Amino acid sequence: MAEHESLEFGKADFVLLDNVSMEEFMANLKLRFEKGRIYTYIGEVVVSVNPYRAMNIYGRDVIEQYKGRELYERPPHLFAIADAAYKAMKRRNKDTCIVISGESGAGKTEASKYIMQYIAAITNPNQRAEVERVKNMLLKSNCVLEAFGNAKTNRNDNSSRFGKYMDINFDFKGDPIGGHINNYLLEKSRVIFQQEGERSFHSFYQSCINDGADFKAVADAMKVIGFTGDEIQTVYKILATILHLGNLTFGVDGDVTLIENTKLVSVLRELLSTKEENVEKALLYRTVATGRDVIEKQHTTQEANYGRDALAKAMYERLFCWIVSRINDVIEVRNYDAKIHGKNTVIGVLDIYGFEIFQNNSFEQFCINYCNEKLQQLFIQLVLKQEQEEYQREGIPWKHIDYFNNQIIVDLVEQQHKGIFAVLDEACMNVGKVTDEVFLQGLNTKLAKHAHYTSRKLSPTDKSLEFDRDFRIRHYAGDVVYSVVGFIDKNKDTLFQDFKRLLYNSSNPVLKAMWPEGKLRITEVTKRPLTAATLFKNSMISLVENLASKEPYYVRCVKPNDVKSPLLFEHERCRHQVEYLGLLENVRVRRAGFANRQTYPRFLQRYKMISEFTWPNHDLPSDKEAVKRLLQGCGFDHDVAYGKTKVFIRTPRTLFSLEEQRAEM
Ligand code: ATP
Ligand code: MG
Repeated sequence: MAEHESLEFGKADFVLLDNVSMEEFMANLKLRFEKGRIYTYIGEVVVSVNPYRAMNIYGRDVIEQYKGRELYERPPHLFAIADAAYKAMKRRNKDTCIVISGESGAGKTEASKYIMQYIAAITNPNQRAEVERVKNMLLKSNCVLEAFGNAKTNRNDNSSRFGKYMDINFDFKGDPIGGHINNYLLEKSRVIFQQEGERSFHSFYQSCINDGADFKAVADAMKVIGFTGDEIQTVYKILATILHLGNLTFGVDGDVTLIENTKLVSVLRELLSTKEENVEKALLYRTVATGRDVIEKQHTTQEANYGRDALAKAMYERLFCWIVSRINDVIEVRNYDAKIHGKNTVIGVLDIYGFEIFQNNSFEQFCINYCNEKLQQLFIQLVLKQEQEEYQREGIPWKHIDYFNNQIIVDLVEQQHKGIFAVLDEACMNVGKVTDEVFLQGLNTKLAKHAHYTSRKLSPTDKSLEFDRDFRIRHYAGDVVYSVVGFIDKNKDTLFQDFKRLLYNSSNPVLKAMWPEGKLRITEVTKRPLTAATLFKNSMISLVENLASKEPYYVRCVKPNDVKSPLLFEHERCRHQVEYLGLLENVRVRRAGFANRQTYPRFLQRYKMISEFTWPNHDLPSDKEAVKRLLQGCGFDHDVAYGKTKVFIRTPRTLFSLEEQRAEM
C-alpha cells in the first residue's frame, strides 16, 4: 500500500484499520491531519481534510510522480484520483466524473482546481495550439466564475454560491479539446441581503470598492476568454445598476407612490441606455391585462420595493448565466472532425454546495440540502453497484452490506403530488390569498405522518422550531429546521414583465440580448413560468442521470474546524462529517469485499521479484496462473480470490506483507 512503510503518518487507506470503528477512523484522520497528510483513501475514494495553509504538494515535481501511476503506488493525493479518472477515460474509453462533496469551507473548489491543473499539466505533450487554447480557457474560466459566483460568508471567505459541473472533452489522443459548464441555482438573494459579517458577490467589491487588483485579474481573464470591450463594459454597468437600485427608495404623496431620490433615475437611465421616463414607469407601475383591456396599475410602496429587489436579483442572475454561456461559446468542442470521427470522451468535475445548516434556513438551504440528498443517494447506489458489478463481472461471490438508504428523504422532497416541492407548487398556483402559512398547512395535511417530517415541537420547551412558521426535516446529515417565510415568493420568483420590456428595449445590444422575452407584450405573456423549485428539481434529476452514466470518482472533503485554523482538529465537528458522509459504511463495504484488486499483469509487474517462479519471467500458460503460483508460494492463497482479469486481495495485511517482501528484495 501507499506509504505503508511510514506508519508514523497513520494508515494511508482506511481499509487498513485494524478495527473499523469510529474511534479508530477518527484517530487515523486526526493523526494524518496533524502530520500534514491531508489525503487518505477509502479504496478509490479520497478523503481530504482542509489544511488551511499552503501545502507544498501541488508542484510540477509532484505531478510527475503521479503521472500514469496506480493509486496505491504513491501517497494518497487528488492527483492520483485525477490520474485514475484520466486513465479510465483514455485507456478504457470511459466517460468518467469526479464528484467533490463536503460542507461549506471543506475545500471542494480548491480540490476541483488542483484536479483541473493536474489534467492540464499531463495532457498535450505536443503543445498543439488548439489544445493549449482550450486548456487556457478552462483554467481562466474559474477566475471569472469565482468573481461573479463566490462571496465571503461566515463559513468561507471564498464561498461558492452556485453549483458547478464542468465537462472536459478529450480527443482520441487524450488531449482536452473543449468543455462545457453547467451552473446550478445561484444564491441571488445575496445581492439584496447578507447576513451579518457576510458580503455580496466578490464582483461588486472588485468593480468599485476595494478589491482593485482582483478586478484587473478578472477583467484580463474576461478579455482572454474573448469577451469584447462592449461586453465587459456592460457587465460593469449592470453591477453599477444593481448597486444603485440598492439605494433607491420609495415614498407616498397622498395615494401616489413616488421615487424619493429622483436623481438616481437618470443614473439608471444612463447605465441601462434607456429613456428616463421608462425607468421611472417600470419602477412605479405594472401593466396588467384584465380581460381585453390593458391597464397600468400603480404599485404600492411595498410592491415597488418588491419589484426593485426582484429586478436587482434577476439582473444579477441573468448576468451570471450569460457569463457562463459566453464561456461555453468559447470552450465548446470546435473541431468538428473530432466530433464526427474521433472518439470524444469526457471527464466531468462536480463542485457543488455542500449540506448547509444555518441559524435561519430558508428556500435556498432547502434546495441545497435536497441536492445533497440526491448526491448521497447516487453515492450509495454507485459505490454499492460498482462493487457488486465488479465482483459479478469477475465471477466472484459477494455478500450484501446494509446502508441507511436516504431514498425516503429524496421522495419526501421530490415525489409527484405529495412531495414538498409539489405542495409548494400547489400553494403557488392558488388564485386566492397565497401565503407561506397556506403552504405550511398544506405540508402538515399531506406529510404529518412522514417519519422525516414534522412541524411540531419535539417538547414543550423546544426552542428550535417556531410553531406555525417552521418545519423540520430529518436529513441524512442531520435535522434541519426551515422557516417557511419567503418560500412562496422565492418559488414564484416573479419579475414584472415591465422590467423585462425595459431591458429588452435598451439601446445597449448586449443588455438587450440578455432579455429576449422582453419583446412579448403583456397580452402575449400567457404561460405561467416554471417555478424555481421545479426548475431546480429538473436540473438535479438530469445532473444525477448524467453522473450515473459515467464512471464516478469521489473526493469527500472534511472541514477540520470553524475558525480556519491549520492546527485545530475539532473532534466532534469532524466526527459528525465522517458520520453523515457515510465514510464508515464506505470502509465496511470496501472491506467486506476485497481491500485491493489488481490486474494480473500489473500485479506481476510489481511483485514478480519475490518468487522464483516469476522472476525475471514466468513460463506458465497465463499471468493468472503465475500470480496463483506466486501467492501459493508465499502462503497467501487462502486470502485471495482469482477473478477473470484481476486478483482480489481480501485483507490489507496480505498486501502489507507483499510490499514488505518486495522492499526486502
Ligand atoms: P463552499 O461550499 O463554501 O464553496 P468549498 O468547499 O468550496 O466551500 P474552498 O473554497 O475550496 O471550500 O476552501 C476554503 C478555503 O480553505 C480556501 O479558500 C483555502 O483558504 C482553504 N483550502 C482549501 N483547500 C486547501 C488546500 N488543499 N490547501 C490549502 N488551503 C486550502
Ligand atoms: Mg466552493
